[in-house]
Amino acid sequence: MDTQLLIGSQFEAGTEAEELILNPRTGAKIIDLAEASQSQIERAVDAAEKAFSTWSMTTPGERSGYLLKIADAIEKDADAFAALEALNCGKPINAVRNDELPAIVDCWRFFAGAIRNLHATVAGEYLPGHTSMIRRDPVGIIGSIAPWNYPLLMMAWKLAPAIAGGNTVVFKPSEQTPLTALKMARLLADILPEGVVNVILGRGDTVGNTLINHPKIGMVSITGDIATGKKVLQAAAKTVKRTHLELGGKAPVIVYDDADLEAVVNGIRTFGYYNAGQDCTAACRIYAQDGIYEKLVADLTSAVSTIKYNLADDAENEIGPLISKRQRDRVASFVERATEQKHIEITTGGNLGSKDGFFFQPTVVAGATQEDEIVRREVFGPVVSVTRFAEDDQAVTWANDSDYGLASSVWTKDISKAMKAASRLQYGCTWINTHFMLTNEMPHGGIKQSGYGKDMSIYALEDYTAVRHVMINHG
Ligand code: NAD
Repeated sequence: MDTQLLIGSQFEAGTEAEELILNPRTGAKIIDLAEASQSQIERAVDAAEKAFSTWSMTTPGERSGYLLKIADAIEKDADAFAALEALNCGKPINAVRNDELPAIVDCWRFFAGAIRNLHATVAGEYLPGHTSMIRRDPVGIIGSIAPWNYPLLMMAWKLAPAIAGGNTVVFKPSEQTPLTALKMARLLADILPEGVVNVILGRGDTVGNTLINHPKIGMVSITGDIATGKKVLQAAAKTVKRTHLELGGKAPVIVYDDADLEAVVNGIRTFGYYNAGQDCTAACRIYAQDGIYEKLVADLTSAVSTIKYNLADDAENEIGPLISKRQRDRVASFVERATEQKHIEITTGGNLGSKDGFFFQPTVVAGATQEDEIVRREVFGPVVSVTRFAEDDQAVTWANDSDYGLASSVWTKDISKAMKAASRLQYGCTWINTHFMLTNEMPHGGIKQSGYGKDMSIYALEDYTAVRHVMINHG
């Protein structure tokens, strides 16, 4: 198991406080890992700064070649990456191996192609005797900070567009899930020039805080909680940094009377509980119209009660545990408070899902109303609420009545109704008759307090590069 930070071309252990890394399935210790000291962070930033002068001058074609090599190397070692990610996060190995790893490899390949295909306004004489041209140049050193729910995928989403764009990076994984990032550090050091990517470990309020305040860092890219995003913005104001914020979500799922009930139930069973609901786009806030509500609750309840977890044969498991005891207890407390409401019924689940480890039962909370905490706040666990609505417009109004604005979905056989709702929903993404389908060509990112800045797609490359105008006076 790789345990060392990557600073320039050096591998070295952190020298500060140790963090206990646990197996969420059993609660047993995997390893203790020490976080980076202030001088190690300083050296990582210096290494990124030194590398920037040469990396930023490479051609898109050269950088593309590096990204393709990285993709090939991950693909070659995909089984080992999947096993390590499954160990650290508790995910079923099949979900990592068959869903996440191909998406990760494709992300690196997508940006290898995309960086060779940037477009902008044509160069030309917009003032007589002067030729103008648009450039897209790297921003500089990126401080990149990832969450614990998809460690290797988030690393790909953050690193691939950043280095494709000619930037260099100091990357910090979540203190809870650093293991695949440390393995990636070895892989990256074998392929990339020294200092292009540096990987350091540590907690948010120590190492993360130093990174987001560092004067040499030109842009902070973070995926995490809204509260963390606000701290990044406060820090960024001091040195006027760019920020790229992917914060939480509370995805509304609008189910009209004419929806295909079986497709809806299968969709919510899959996309509401995937990764044990630790997903910022999870289909967790259902609005079901009067005519379909009862049948939806009944069918969803029986479908969710069959979700398999914590079985000895991991090939059978559909979801894993929560990442930590703290997160599991947080989920349990949301459900407990919901249960205290007389109008709410827990139709399946509602309890801890194991004696050891951090499992929580897949849960359906029926009869929830717009004012309920379970409808308004992000639970980030295997818990889906169902709220009844009458008029078409009511559902869109309630869906938009949220601090979040990341993802949403609409289920109906009437395409006009779907398009009308999609045009009014204030979310970075609206799916119609599906949910949670991502592709590297299309952007992922929020509006409102879910943050701003896009992952994946050409829009991510735009975020990680600065538009510049060059004008020549030729008389
Ligand atoms: P978190 O905000 O606690 O931590 C995320 C990262 O930020 C970690 O690496 C952490 O160490 C770091 N961090 C925390 N405090 C910091 C500080 N003061 N300064 C600098 N860095 C700091 O979030 P989490 O618990 O790891 O992840 C769950 C959250 O992430 C959820 O709210 C979820 O919705 C969100 N999320 C969003 C997306 C998206 O694409 N929008 C994707 C995944 C997760």
